[in-house]
Amino acid sequence: MKKHNFSAGPCILPQEVLKKASEAVLNFDGLGLSLIEISHRSEHFVAVIEKARHLALELLGLENKGYTALFLHGGASTEFLLTPYNLMKINGKAAYTNTGTWSEKAIKEAKLFGDVYIIGSSKEKNFSYIPKDYTIPEDIDYFHCTSNNTIAGTQMKSFPKHNGITVCDMSSDIFSRQLDFSQFDVIYAGAQKNMGPSGTTLVVVKNEVLGKTGRQIPTMLDYQQHISKESMLNTPAVFPIYVSMLTLKWLKDLGGISVIEKINNTKAELLYAEIDRNPLFKGNTAVEDRSVMNVTFSLLNENLKLQFDKQWHDAGISGLNGHRSVGGYRASIYNALPIESVHVLVKVMQEFEKSI
Ligand SMILES: *Cc1c(COP(=O)(O)O)cnc(C)c1O
Repeated sequence: MKKHNFSAGPCILPQEVLKKASEAVLNFDGLGLSLIEISHRSEHFVAVIEKARHLALELLGLENKGYTALFLHGGASTEFLLTPYNLMKINGKAAYTNTGTWSEKAIKEAKLFGDVYIIGSSKEKNFSYIPKDYTIPEDIDYFHCTSNNTIAGTQMKSFPKHNGITVCDMSSDIFSRQLDFSQFDVIYAGAQKNMGPSGTTLVVVKNEVLGKTGRQIPTMLDYQQHISKESMLNTPAVFPIYVSMLTLKWLKDLGGISVIEKINNTKAELLYAEIDRNPLFKGNTAVEDRSVMNVTFSLLNENLKLQFDKQWHDAGISGLNGHRSVGGYRASIYNALPIESVHVLVKVMQEFEKSI
């Protein structure tokens, strides 16, 4: 039986994508060859990566607006370092909000390159809310934020306006909701949260912001080099890019981000409503900042944990434990998670209440 997969990442992908991807491993497009045993420079794979790059921009509404989509290596974690490398001037400055574990890691890397202003932080409250009361200084090379905090379960609902460059780590909510994506200059996202398998990272960059730092950038870390080689500076992660392409196509065929956003909101409302109603549970985060992708909650009485865990396991649910750093529960309800899985979880919570 297929499990109800609430894993935070790598995470659930559409069933039809998995089927197509597994077929391509054996015989890609009827070539008599596997997708993963042909040259990345063959016309067959070049068509795949071009389609993936095109679909990414199309879904974000960034076609013909001076942006390039790249599929790079090293995960979102490598972008923590590539963003300052490519955007921070020598002796430069950047402003960051510190909204969770991933922001903290991004800040740590940026500090290797220059001064980092932490202009808003919710660390003192375990990252349970999104700081909003801050102003972005004028004298910075860029502002960096994390749109969705995968571990804490908070999400930025709006983004501060300023005149400079904005960089956003959208690893765990890219393609999940409509935004004016042109307010960002660099968007990056590890594939494995809402787009594909681990092993590739989508970087969407506005070309005109690059080349202004005065730094010598090693080739593989230089966005401009990747752009000039059309995301084929070295051998790309062919299988993760192929699966990402299939997932993006699945999303486009569904009607795009505006359609999935409605479904995502319905799923999140269902689950948060049960958390708020059920006297045995409480949500972990400020209500107005609740993530639509990662729903974090806890038992009021931790002694009931074994009992609840048994009930959701028995219902075929997988991946519900909170991140090891925070405990509790985390239901990751990414694009590909069917609403039926949320119904099953809500029912388990209701039956658990009756059984106590
Ligand atoms: C998972 C995650 C990362 C790290 O991604 P890797 O691809 O494992 O490096 C960074 N930022 C956010 C918001 C994440 O959810």
